[in-house]
Amino acid sequence: MKTIGMIGGMSWESTLPYYRLVNETVRERLGGLHSARLVLYSVDFQEIERLQHSGDWERAGEAMAHAARALHAAGADFLILCTNTMHKVAAAVETAVPIPFLHIADATADAITQAGMRRVGLLGTRFTMEQDFYRERLQRHGIEVEVPAPDERDEIHRVIYEELCQGRVLDSSRDSYRRIIAGLQARGAEAVILGCTEIMLLIGPEDADVPLFDTTALHARAAALASLD
Ligand code: GLU
Repeated sequence: MKTIGMIGGMSWESTLPYYRLVNETVRERLGGLHSARLVLYSVDFQEIERLQHSGDWERAGEAMAHAARALHAAGADFLILCTNTMHKVAAAVETAVPIPFLHIADATADAITQAGMRRVGLLGTRFTMEQDFYRERLQRHGIEVEVPAPDERDEIHRVIYEELCQGRVLDSSRDSYRRIIAGLQARGAEAVILGCTEIMLLIGPEDADVPLFDTTALHARAAALASLD
């Protein structure tokens, strides 16, 4: 079994389900007392959030590269970054270490393609919904991406940082997300990507009339399977 290197803590509310899902997948495959071999580097998210919102992606990339080197030194065979947003600096991680990097958007795009879908809505932080690094990666797989309207993007972003990343799961926010998902469906989305690793704490399949692609579950599962390859 290979050792997974996880860069987490962004936020730790979503790193917890990652840990559980990776272990559940290994148990499902190997049975008995088998569990995932992994090393976790968990950051102080307050510092990272400050760099994100001040636009200092260079220093954010350096922080991720530092974590990547530490995980490599601790014996990780490959790396995952347990957040969609920080894949903006994926190149800094990839160039910091000589081990493979399993990109969250690739794991998600593979699942969408396998399901035979092409046109999807994307929910995530404003960085993920509005900047090229994530949508372009999906488009490379032949996937068309719809994002919500600007005021809806503001609301999704606010709920992620002010509520979900702080462990607050509110019915009123679930209602707004449901409305936004229905709006994406009305605009032609065949499915919706939960493109922020905390959204699965708020929204599940019962909240939408279209399939949901949960990046936390897909990425964790892809990592577990890669560790058994
Ligand atoms: N975990 C979130 C994501 O998947 C947002 C927190 C962050 O900015 O890393 O994008």
